[in-house]
Amino acid sequence: MKNTKEMRKWLDDMNLDHPLVIAGPCSAETEEQVLKIAHELKDTDVNYFRAGIWKPRTRPGMFEGVGALGLKWLQKVKEETGMKTTTEVANAAHVKLALEHDVDMLWIGARSTVSPFIMQEIADALEGTDKPVLVKNPVNPDLSLWLGGIERIYNSGVKNIGAIHRGFSTYEKTKYRNIPEWQLAVDFQDKYPDIPLINDPSHITGKREMIFDVSQTALDLNFDGLMIETHFDPEKAWSDARQQVTPDTLKQIMRDLKIRKEGSDAADYNAKLNTLRAQIDVIDNSIVETMGKRMNISDAIGALKKEKNIAVLQSSRWNEILGKMILQGEEKGLSEEFVLKMFKAIHQESINHQERILKS
Ligand code: PEP
Ligand code: MN
Repeated sequence: MKNTKEMRKWLDDMNLDHPLVIAGPCSAETEEQVLKIAHELKDTDVNYFRAGIWKPRTRPGMFEGVGALGLKWLQKVKEETGMKTTTEVANAAHVKLALEHDVDMLWIGARSTVSPFIMQEIADALEGTDKPVLVKNPVNPDLSLWLGGIERIYNSGVKNIGAIHRGFSTYEKTKYRNIPEWQLAVDFQDKYPDIPLINDPSHITGKREMIFDVSQTALDLNFDGLMIETHFDPEKAWSDARQQVTPDTLKQIMRDLKIRKEGSDAADYNAKLNTLRAQIDVIDNSIVETMGKRMNISDAIGALKKEKNIAVLQSSRWNEILGKMILQGEEKGLSEEFVLKMFKAIHQESINHQERILKS
């Protein structure tokens, strides 16, 4: 993608003094529900009113959205509140209908971004539109697939583009509904710093209690905006009830979030920052050095096991190490989740080293 700078023009032209805010219910349920929420969000920081019309559900038989009928309700939202509107499109027919009903911005859901066929179909249908199009990350943590989706939209002549980080599926249960894998979002920004990046803490957390923290992390990482599911009676929502917040909670969240500046030319700030970054570089180097040493010892153990014909994996020994390290990590303020992840990665690398030796 040659000119990613032009992709953010739609956002820059809004001249916001706060991050972009997209809010509204997971699903449009009834005309009354849509309008009631919209009126409660009017005169807040909300820039775009969201509501899902076509809902991708994991299993059939659940509420699958009100369909095209909801597009009329979004038009009413615009007429009555002046808020811009956005909805998810998942095929060419959706795109056609949404554009015909003058929805102001379209987003592509995580289950669509995974499929290059669907992305191409949507891209073709969007050809030349000047409405902003936001592409959610695919459900699996694959940066190229995400970028590939954005590229398809860009190649069909759409110039106003953004990305939504909504987290990634895991088989293992975690405290998140979709783990954020922040590193992937940071890599995204490194590669394309100009593409507006919006965080969706609702689908990352799956729980309203965690939305504030995830939003704050996103702003600390220089995200350009937030998409937060909002409903006047979250518990009774027809989809994603656990993660929606009330308009009042949303307003509170917006008040409490600290918006940090991207940089400051204050010499003092830069000097301190450089010093701290240099210290981090030194430590990162020594982490890699230490890992190298650890693997050398693993190799020596591998050679010993080979001699005696002993299996690589000895789970009692491994559990003992893990238990000790979790306790020690706790003392240093490291979460159990992090220590587990780190040692699983180290252990896997050790096993790979020893396998290589045993097979040699
Ligand atoms: C949504 O925004 O309501 C939605 C279905 O999101 P995702 O595609 O991230 O699952
Ligand atoms: Mn939802």
